[in-house]
Amino acid sequence: MGGQDAWWFMSLLALIFLAAASLTPLLTPRKKEEKWKSITRVKCMSCGYTEERDFTKGDYVGKIVGKCPKCGGQLVVDAIFRRKEEPSKADRQGKL
Ligand SMILES: [Zn+2]
Repeated sequence: MGGQDAWWFMSLLALIFLAAASLTPLLTPRKKEEKWKSITRVKCMSCGYTEERDFTKGDYVGKIVGKCPKCGGQLVVDAIFRRKEEPSKADRQGKL
């Protein structure tokens, strides 16, 4: 009979599904805790002043983003990188 094979196959699928379902909650929170933030570092071409700001869409290295607050020179995007953000503020409501 082929029915027995099908039953065995179905229970195997169910087992795999249950295993995956029980593993997923364990893996998901870990990923959420690691927050990566894109940072744009701008640099003054005249005096070397640097400033880090949140990356905004359209930023690229070499882009002129404004004037230097110190000398009024050109502020140019010097580097774009990603930094791991650590949850410094208590986002989790652990105690009540
Ligand atoms: Zn400057």
